[in-house]
Amino acid sequence: MVEFCPKCSNLLRKRNVGGRLTLVCKCGYQKPLEKDNKKVEQNIQRKSKALEKNLVIVSENISVHPKTSKFCPKCDHKEAETWQMQIRGADEPMTHFFRCVKCKYTWREQ
Ligand SMILES: [Zn+2]
Ligand SMILES: [Zn+2]
Repeated sequence: MVEFCPKCSNLLRKRNVGGRLTLVCKCGYQKPLEKDNKKVEQNIQRKSKALEKNLVIVSENISVHPKTSKFCPKCDHKEAETWQMQIRGADEPMTHFFRCVKCKYTWREQ
């Protein structure tokens, strides 16, 4: 997109001014390029990532999972809670989560 200076009608050029793309003119006129759309997109991505995090945290806080004899990789205790969760697409295999009943270390296996 080509834009012209509203002051002197010269062609505006793209320059990096202080880390932001800005349209500048020989006469000193400057116009920052709109980046609002990108910002909104980034915010949405950040939000959905936070939601994913919360999902895992919530399931970790529930302690009604069945227990199984599984060696904890951290403290070698041989009893761990276990549960399954679909963390990828519906056609992917379930992921098995384990949490040591002694040290609360949580890990997962396919
Ligand atoms: Zn100008
Ligand atoms: Zn442990």
